[in-house]
Amino acid sequence: MNELLTATNLTKRFKPEEHPVVDKVCFGVKEQEIFAILGPSGCGKTTTLRIIAGFERTDDGSIQLNSKTLECPYTHIPPEKRGIGFVFQDYALFPHLSVLENVKFGIRNAGGSEREFRALKMLDLIGMKSLRSRKPHELSGGQQQRVALARALAPKPSLLLMDEPFSNLDAVLRNSTRNEVRKILKDAKMSAILVTHDQEEALSVADRIGVMNNGKIVQIGTPEDVYYRPKTRFVAQFLGKTNFFAAQATGLEARSEIGYLMLDKPARGDVMISIRPEHLTLERATPANCSGTCGIISSKEFKGHDITYHIKLPTGECIVHTDNRMPFGIGENVVVRPLEPAVVLKQDS
Ligand code: ATP
Repeated sequence: MNELLTATNLTKRFKPEEHPVVDKVCFGVKEQEIFAILGPSGCGKTTTLRIIAGFERTDDGSIQLNSKTLECPYTHIPPEKRGIGFVFQDYALFPHLSVLENVKFGIRNAGGSEREFRALKMLDLIGMKSLRSRKPHELSGGQQQRVALARALAPKPSLLLMDEPFSNLDAVLRNSTRNEVRKILKDAKMSAILVTHDQEEALSVADRIGVMNNGKIVQIGTPEDVYYRPKTRFVAQFLGKTNFFAAQATGLEARSEIGYLMLDKPARGDVMISIRPEHLTLERATPANCSGTCGIISSKEFKGHDITYHIKLPTGECIVHTDNRMPFGIGENVVVRPLEPAVVLKQDS
């Protein structure tokens, strides 16, 4: 797929003497791609999105959409001329307008019957044509979210921006709404940028994720890439539970507190490695398999389909997710075995 949006070296300081809140941010969004910007609170996600929307100026760098420069220190195309749609966190629906009227409001460049036709088509796409006469307060949070999405999509933008669009929904509704939103965007062949601090949301909705920390994009990749092949300790930790071990590497193998492990890439000397809890398994310790690297089960969380064990090791702790056919008891001696190679991490910059 061709690149639709290119952000190059975007930089923003709100106070000249302070560290930039957006620091040389570079990424591209392909046609029909959902790209998530994922990072902790205050890392600069919203500011990046607002620069792309045209609500903030960039101090440096540029944004191209369809090869046209929208933003650089000398150019600023106003938000309404960018061909970009925006879904806000609080949906921002007009309370006195019906669902249909809210969606029609987004379509400016068409006559009455064409507007109605396009609005109804959008409502059909989001499965809400039958609720077209309702007012926003007569809808659930998830339905309001879909109407906000339909309104943003109705003018046929080239790109849709979504800032924490699911954060007002409860956990169950959030899950189903994000699956629906992904399907709607894919059916509409839309490109979108989703800003979120929720790693599960980014992993399940996005095609690619840019992980952001301290104003910088620190890694870009598919959900599988950033989850299973994190480059730094920050990315490994932010994307979910993991185990870190100091290890001594000798090529594709390393020695660590849980014994010898394979590595995902060759390394030499002292390294920090990460291995996900589901990439470890347990064996009951016996004199034959335990050569000084045994652990003791310190706690256990039974979750029905799987079990999470916390293992006390001689100098630390590790977490292991196993299936429910491995019922070890608290206090039992176990040996921790890797099922997959461990990931060698670079130092966080
Ligand atoms: P959150 O997930 O909490 O919304 P975020 O990653 O979206 O966080 P931003 O809203 O982009 O972060 O803010 C980045 C930093 O810039 C924060 O420290 C914030 O306080 C600061 N900031 C944002 N807007 C302004 C502003 N208009 N003036 C001054 N500082 C600002």
